[in-house]
Parts: sequence; C-alpha cells; structure tokens
Amino acid sequence: MYSFELSEEKKQYQELAKKFAENEVKPFNEKFDDDWNSHVYMSIVLKKAAELGFMGLPVDPKYGGSGADGMTIMAVLEELAAVNGGVACVIGDTWFAQTPIVIAANEEQRERFLRPLASREEANLGCICMTEPASGADIEDPRMKLRTVKTVVTEEADHFIINGVKMWPSNAGIASHYVVIATTDPKQEEKGSCIIVVEEGTPGLTFGKIERKMGMPEDQNREVVFNNVRVPKTNLLGKIGDGQRILQTTVAYNRLGAGMISVGMARGAFEYALQYCKSRVVGGKALIKHSLISAMFADMATKIDAARLLVYRASWALKKRDPNRARYSDMAKVYATNAAMDVTSNCVQVMGSYGYSREYPVEKYMRDAKIVQIYLGPNELLQQLIGESL
Ligand SMILES: Cc1cc2nc3c(=O)[nH]c(=O)nc-3n(C[C@H](O)[C@H](O)[C@H](O)COP(=O)(O)OP(=O)(O)OC[C@H]3O[C@@H](n4cnc5c(N)ncnc54)[C@H](O)[C@@H]3O)c2cc1C
Repeated sequence: MYSFELSEEKKQYQELAKKFAENEVKPFNEKFDDDWNSHVYMSIVLKKAAELGFMGLPVDPKYGGSGADGMTIMAVLEELAAVNGGVACVIGDTWFAQTPIVIAANEEQRERFLRPLASREEANLGCICMTEPASGADIEDPRMKLRTVKTVVTEEADHFIINGVKMWPSNAGIASHYVVIATTDPKQEEKGSCIIVVEEGTPGLTFGKIERKMGMPEDQNREVVFNNVRVPKTNLLGKIGDGQRILQTTVAYNRLGAGMISVGMARGAFEYALQYCKSRVVGGKALIKHSLISAMFADMATKIDAARLLVYRASWALKKRDPNRARYSDMAKVYATNAAMDVTSNCVQVMGSYGYSREYPVEKYMRDAKIVQIYLGPNELLQQLIGESL
C-alpha cells in the first residue's frame, strides 16, 4: 500500500523549508539574474541553508547530517522550488554528489567526504562530474555502458591519475568535492567504470568560464578540466568496475529530485497566476470566470498533483527496492518536467504581457523549467528506456 501522508517530523522539515524559501530566498529573487557570475546573493542564501542543516539533509546524523528520508527530501525540494527552482537545484545538486558516497563509500570515506558536505558552519557544495563535451545523454544511458566516457584514470603506486574534461557540472568551481565518473579504459565498458572523489584545490583541477544560461542563474556551470590530477587510491568509491552500477542508482534517486523541483516550480507559477486571474478583469469579468481559462487552471492543477504523486510513488518504490523502481523514477521525471514546462508556459499565457514581463515572477519559472526536461537524462532518452522496460 502507498501512503503519502507526511509524519509530524516530516511536516516540520517542510515548514522549515517553506520559511527559509519565503524569508531568505524570495527577497533576492529579482537579483539572481544579475548575480549569475558573481554569486554574491547565492553565497548569502547558501550560508543560511547550511546553518539550517539543509546541505546535509540526506546524510546520516553519524556524519553530521539530518538523516531525512526520501519523502522528506521531496517535500523540502518542492517548497524550495515553489519559490526558486535554481536554489532548489543548487542544494539538490549537493545531495546528488553525496549520493554515490552514501551508496558506495566505506566508513573512512564517509567520515572524510560526507561530514564536510553536511557542515552547518559553512556551505560546502558537492559537484557531480558526469557530462563531457562529446557525450551527455549517452553517459547516463545504461545501454551505452559508459563506453563514451573519455575521462581516463591510470594507476601509479598508491595513486590514481585523472585526465579528461567535463562539461556543465552544477556548482563547478565553487564546490568542495568533485565526484567524477571515469574509466580505466572506455573499451572495457562497465568493467573499467569508476567513480573517484577529487577535493577542491587538488593540483591539475581547473575550470572554464561560467556558462551564461537561459535560466537557473543561481546554478554555476563550467567546464571542469582534469590535467594529471593525482588522488590517493583511497578516493575511489567501491572498486574499479562499480562505476556504472553506482551511477545508475544515483541517477534513479536524483531523477526524483528533478521531478520534485519541477512540481515546486509549476506550483509556484500556478499559485501566482491563479491569484492574478482572480483579480484581472477582462471582458467584464475576472479572467478565472472565463470557462477556457478556468479549464486551463483545472488541467494545470491536475498535472501538478499527478506529477507529485508519481514522484512519491517512485520514492516509495526506491525505498522498497521494487523491481520497477528505475522505470517509476524515469516516468516521474519525464511526466513532472513536461508538466512543469506546460504549466509555467500556460501561466505566462494567462497573464498576458505581464506574464512575459520580468517585473512579474512567472517568466522565471518558465525559463528555469526548460532545463529540467534536459538534464539528469533528457526526456527522450528516458521515454525510450521506459518503452523498452515495458
Ligand atoms: C543547469 C544545468 C545543470 C547541469 N548539471 C549537471 C551536473 O551537475 N553534472 C553533470 O555531469 N552534467 C550536468 N549538466 C549537463 C546535462 O546533464 C547534459 O547537458 C544533459 O545530460 C544532456 O547532454 P548534452 O547536452 O550533451 O546533450 P546530448 O547528449 O547531445 O543530447 C541532445 C538531445 O538529444 C536528444 N537525445 C539524447 N539521447 C537520446 C536518445 N537516446 N534518444 C532520443 N533522443 C535523444 C535529447 O533531446 C537531448 O536533449 C547540467 C546542465 C545544465 C544546463
């Protein structure tokens, strides 16, 4: 049986996230677009997020985290994204980078990597380095078995040497820990796959310029270059050959995060547009009283609810290790991200030119929503995987 009722403890986290988003994020919402390459306002927001314990939300209290379960994490992400999808993405990307460590690290590695990433004293960000210049979706495609990965690891006594280039990772250049998907030899496919943690400041780790994007200015994305980066062998998660399995489990969890960020953004735009349409008079009556507009809101409300339920169902399936968990996760990501794009675009539509104006918050949700259909597995890839699993 599914039960999606939040316990009192989970509701407290949800309430904390709502207050944080309203009080600490929203006041900067109009400033983030100009903050894209300086991160002055984001640094303030992230410091507060760390103090409140959000950076280590999924991490075991043994390592300084809060040990929140999947449902709580989803409820928190929805509240953050209802105010700002980019902030939800930056915090969620740190959890994304923590996932392989939670799944595969040994005790010594958990202590060394998770504790700083869960710190309340400072906001230490995680960065997962998967995408490469010549290969994005293919690296996440389980059928490709990581044979398109060009970031290569060689062994030298008790060290690994990493060479390669990654594109687009969130939090690149400002993260404390880089979780790198690599291979000992692309021809070895899965057998050569591996995931290695590189700490900031390691010689040979450098970054390209900050990418200027259509939306999500809160998220810093840059090229990450590994030029003879030397790390101790104790930074390898699991063993050589485990990389593909760890990556697939990691993306299954984090596709739910992408789904819930989409639910939050759709809800934020919806709530604003609904209030607007209740007071805006067109043709002698409030916009919401026009049957076509009312039907659009009915559809939007249904899509948001359906998306949330799919995400919760997938979260439940992952916890239960249901045999269909990967499919449920892909379904939730595809449906929720498409719903967010439809809903945010319709919210702009019903508000007319005011919806299109940067003076109003709705257009930002629409710009932010677009990328979630693309990252963490473009929807076309996931639709293909869902189809094949049937
Ligand atoms: C804001 C942002 C945050 C990001 N965060 C990270 C991060 O933290 N870490 C990281 O490693 N990367 C990150 N990325 C990169 C992102 O995950 C990749 O860009 C994405 O996986 C797509 O890869 P690509 O751009 O190379 O597109 P390609 O792989 O070239 O795909 C292009 C298009 O082809 C289509 N397509 C792809 N595969 C298939 C298929 N099998 N069947 C049919 N059609 C297909 C899709 O429409 C897709 O959009 C981020 C990007 C952005 C913009």
